[in-house]
Amino acid sequence: MYAAARRLLSTRACAAAAARASPVASRAPSCYSAAQSKPPPPRFPTPKEIRRGLDQYVVGQDKAKKVLCVAVHNHYKRIYSEPSTKSSSQTSAADDDTELEKSNILLLGPTGSGKTLLAKTLARFANVPFVIADATAITQAGYSGEDVESIVYKLLVAADFDVEAAERGIIYIDEVDKLAQKLGCQEDRRDVSGEGVQQALLKMFEGTVFSVPRKRSQNGMSHGCVEVDTTNILFICGGAFSDLGKIVSERLHRCPFGFGTPIRHELGDYALTNALGQSGLLEEIENDDLIAYGLTPEFIGRLPIIVGLTHLTEDQLVQVLREPKNAIGKQYKKLFKMNDVKLHITENALRLIAKKAAVRETGARGLRSIMEGILTEAMFEIPDDAGEGKEKIIVVLVDEESVGTPTRRGCGAKIFRDDGALELYVYQNNIRVPGLIQRPKCSIICRLCLLVAFSAAKLWVYHTFDCFSSIYAWIILILCKANIFTE
Ligand code: ADP
Repeated sequence: MYAAARRLLSTRACAAAAARASPVASRAPSCYSAAQSKPPPPRFPTPKEIRRGLDQYVVGQDKAKKVLCVAVHNHYKRIYSEPSTKSSSQTSAADDDTELEKSNILLLGPTGSGKTLLAKTLARFANVPFVIADATAITQAGYSGEDVESIVYKLLVAADFDVEAAERGIIYIDEVDKLAQKLGCQEDRRDVSGEGVQQALLKMFEGTVFSVPRKRSQNGMSHGCVEVDTTNILFICGGAFSDLGKIVSERLHRCPFGFGTPIRHELGDYALTNALGQSGLLEEIENDDLIAYGLTPEFIGRLPIIVGLTHLTEDQLVQVLREPKNAIGKQYKKLFKMNDVKLHITENALRLIAKKAAVRETGARGLRSIMEGILTEAMFEIPDDAGEGKEKIIVVLVDEESVGTPTRRGCGAKIFRDDGALELYVYQNNIRVPGLIQRPKCSIICRLCLLVAFSAAKLWVYHTFDCFSSIYAWIILILCKANIFTE
């Protein structure tokens, strides 16, 4: 996967170099010289390869992953395909004339379900410049706030001012649901942060040339402007659309369950809420529902691929904590390792953290703030704590007590400064800690070894000194009574 992406990068780097050297060849996506008439098209990862990459970083969201992989693959196939590479026998003139249009993407899903993470990870595997913009910060041109051109400028910065790379990048616009037309906005007043921004974004989605400042020189002077064409930039928009579920269910004359509508208090069980809330509604969303929500038909028309993301279940939240490449648990472990401190999190603590996040309804976003709350004290104590005359912290444990209950704070992570202190604590409290050899296991092995050794000794004594057999039997009897071999 990475190898394919790297090959692609080197191909593009060559293309960029060629473009700088020759303006004529600037649009050729190939590193071959002009002397070679038919350069092979660069290979872009297949949907399955992109999917394998996404699976390493994103938990769940299978349907969304599939749709995104296909959409991104087709987008780049369209950009990198060259009519000249097809043989005339295979391709009719009519086919050659067919222009492939861009399909931008709209991600709908509750907060912390992985919308931004999916877009970011896609860009990583597509190996293209990527930028995240916040729709709420944008205003219509001429009003105070950011305008849409600033997003293109940010992408150019992300591409290190390589215009060609920027023109193939991905822009993720978060919180587009906040651009919904404000109900009650008077007709004579302009909705400069809602509908006005939707209008401004239309042009950019469709493909237009923006004039943005060039890289500043060291003395801070900007040398004019550079033109960036947005035709081949892939736009992914995301939003929670929290009340959209109601609109869809009203249309379907169902009871108002929604993928973002918190109805836990009605059902009392988070998992049940999700199971019902998700049931089919994501599949049922139509453009009319989005129009009823407040997006303009023109805006929705520019986002033909609509993908729904679901709430993460409790099991998936536990997975988010420990499985993906950048799992939150792994991140904290790495942070502690930098100070030579081991961080252990028990299985029960992980589940309790997931439960807490589920109750807060902030999805995986809540996990980090819960972890921060638990580990703050330890993270405050660890750096150069040995300087204050105390022993160095060697291990930190997060167990159920540290987390507390879903509605109450726990006591925070437990800090251990002595060798063997954690093992003793774990043994005394009968806690299972992954990655730590449990004392009970150790003593079972010790008991087995003792038993084998005594049996061997017994045989030897019986055979060698008959007279000692009765003394030996007596010793064994006493040891058995003293519970040496058994619990
Ligand atoms: P949003 O849907 O609000 O855009 P994000 O993608 O920004 O949510 O998620 C915030 C954080 O939560 C991510 O950085 C990641 O650590 C974690 N996260 C969210 N969803 C997932 C997921 N499906 N798999 C793995 N981690 C996730």
